[in-house]
Amino acid sequence: MRILRSNGVALEINDSRLVFDTKPIGKSIQFISHAHLDHARNLSPKNVIMSKETASILKAVGRKGEWTLLKYKEKIRIGDGLEISAKPSGHVLGSAQYIVDADGLRLVYTGDLNIYDSLLHRGAEPVESDILVIESTYGIPYYRFPSREKTYANIVKWVLKTISSGEIPAFKVYSLGKSQEIIRIINTYTDIPVVASSSVSRISEKYNEHGISLEYFSINNDESKEILKQGGCVYVSSFREDLPTDRRVRWAVASGWALRYRYSSYDMAFPLSGHSDYDGLVKYVLESQPKKVYTIYGYAEEFSHNLRRRGINARPISEACQSSLF
Ligand SMILES: [Zn+2]
Repeated sequence: MRILRSNGVALEINDSRLVFDTKPIGKSIQFISHAHLDHARNLSPKNVIMSKETASILKAVGRKGEWTLLKYKEKIRIGDGLEISAKPSGHVLGSAQYIVDADGLRLVYTGDLNIYDSLLHRGAEPVESDILVIESTYGIPYYRFPSREKTYANIVKWVLKTISSGEIPAFKVYSLGKSQEIIRIINTYTDIPVVASSSVSRISEKYNEHGISLEYFSINNDESKEILKQGGCVYVSSFREDLPTDRRVRWAVASGWALRYRYSSYDMAFPLSGHSDYDGLVKYVLESQPKKVYTIYGYAEEFSHNLRRRGINARPISEACQSSLF
């Protein structure tokens, strides 16, 4: 096994080339871990493998191609003795970790990873591996998130307080993943109606189609304009915008970066993330029991360094390019 490129993972195994969340190299098979743009940007028109949920989200946002759909736990065989399967990564609808078995060795590519249960998804289960390629977005000890329950409670409290002042609480969050978690929090703990922007509605529809029930009004229907005028509702969007209401709108963000950055132009920032925090990443590595770890995305250098201090053979993937993995 050789790694050919490090912005995403490009692997050469025997005569096959597999690329994960990056551009194909010559004749290769491309795997997409989930539908966030930074992972699906280089989507090629064919020879692509992804989950059916990821495909339905990509189609909903206008992407086209001939894609092979891989179900969780299903296996794809390529050439002689190369097998690839997928397991949920707990990050967003359809997100997958890929498991590559070749010549008695197992490589796991986690993609974006969340090991904690949320109102939308079960946390990712660690997969045992020989070689682990793990994301390291929050790979420094500074990033230790409060429990999800605590953050959920703080979100609900802020929503109730804002509404009781006659104002509208609004969230500016990613249209895939975070938006749906906010809608689900409000649906689960309150009877407050949620109005969602067009892009959030388009993706939330896919969650409903795949069995994760979300109740909201799309901004495009007349009823939602009346709801916004009346107040007593929550608004969810991927960008800040003027709303058709005379009421004051208070904007909040929800992101793991809220632990560090102040978001001073917002009324509130909640440390809610679709990624694992530092402790979650370390837990995954310990349970995966890999012989070698390659870190990718975010704090790749720092996370490797911290793993090495625990006696784990870890390097950022950028240092592994062109070298043999095993
Ligand atoms: Zn992502």
